[in-house]
Amino acid sequence: MPRGDTKLYDALELPPSANETDIKKAYRKLALKYHPDKNPDAGEKFKDISHAYEVLSDPQKKEVYDRYGEEGLEGAGGMGGGMNPGDLFSQLFGGGDPFGGGRGGGRSSGPRRGKDMAHALKVSLEDLYKGKTSKLALQKQVLCGPCDGLGGKPGAMRTCSGCNGRGIKIVVRQMGPMIQQMQQTCPDCNGEGEQINPKDRCTACNGKKVTNERKILEVFIDKGMKDGQKVTFTGEGDQAPGIIPGDIIIVVEEKPHDRFKRKGKDLFVDVKIDLLTALAGGSFAINHLDDRVLMVSILPGEVIKPDEIKCINGEGMPEYKRPYDKGNLYIKFEIEFPKPNWVSEDKLKLLENILPPRPALPSTKGKEVEEVVLSAVDPMQQSRSNGEDDDEDEEHGHGHGGPGVQCAQQ
Ligand SMILES: [Zn+2]
Ligand SMILES: [Zn+2]
Repeated sequence: MPRGDTKLYDALELPPSANETDIKKAYRKLALKYHPDKNPDAGEKFKDISHAYEVLSDPQKKEVYDRYGEEGLEGAGGMGGGMNPGDLFSQLFGGGDPFGGGRGGGRSSGPRRGKDMAHALKVSLEDLYKGKTSKLALQKQVLCGPCDGLGGKPGAMRTCSGCNGRGIKIVVRQMGPMIQQMQQTCPDCNGEGEQINPKDRCTACNGKKVTNERKILEVFIDKGMKDGQKVTFTGEGDQAPGIIPGDIIIVVEEKPHDRFKRKGKDLFVDVKIDLLTALAGGSFAINHLDDRVLMVSILPGEVIKPDEIKCINGEGMPEYKRPYDKGNLYIKFEIEFPKPNWVSEDKLKLLENILPPRPALPSTKGKEVEEVVLSAVDPMQQSRSNGEDDDEDEEHGHGHGGPGVQCAQQ
């Protein structure tokens, strides 16, 4: 037992009584957690973990350290100087593809990073306005708990003798006069590059090292988030032996709203008001996205025209991370005119006393004047005539720079 020096055990968060398996497990866990690829600010911590593992995983060095502490290691001829933490890491985790032929081959580039997984999350405009916590359930692959991702008892995994750990086999076939060489996935190990004796195989994962788990993610939809915005859950991707798990990326998808349209911070809404309110003022209500009712006044005499757009300041969407900063709400008006014959003809005359007078007719002096009346339009006839217009536009469209009279008329 060490004379009070437990620094290296502390680095691996272990008691000094830890055995070889504990040490390996602890290093595996911490090194993944603090690997600079995942955690760029934890470089020193990663070095400490690596140094501790380098010493404690070597039975000779461990004995020296347990007896004499770190001074003993230095005394033993600079053994503490040691390996590059990255090399140590790839030695344990293997540099290549953990599922394939890379094992035993190139182990230089450090651990592979797993794939990121993207999921779309549909969010209503109300929730983007108010903010919300959404729960999202998904399936993910995790390292098998009972065997700690080893697939069986520690040390039971053997390099596959069928393929020498490459995961692939070269098969030579004679086809008539030709000799054909083919590469195939090693049938002995299913391309894993390693094998385990069936009796040592972990029963929880059947030697696969991973199991599926249902995971609930809590996604914080912040006020003002936008369509396409991403929420990243670092390291929550599929786990597999020897890789750093990738991220789960939630992509916010804004659901279309039946009344409001959004452009950045601004909201747009169509509002229908009656002619009297448009001309003489009054109020109308807008149910907002947070269930407030905006009671909007039109001042007498303001006169709202059809298709006119007005704005309410600060009633648009909140800005992301600055929710008190809100965009504007733009209202496009539709004016509901009275139905035909809504009032008697003599009452209509009263309007002549109120509304601005009719403009004078153009002079007809010396011209033949014919009295005509308007009739209602047959919708079928109207669409047909529109169609003809479109055709003509297309023909004119080819002659670029030609007479643009048709367009100008429209
Ligand atoms: Zn094999
Ligand atoms: Zn297992």
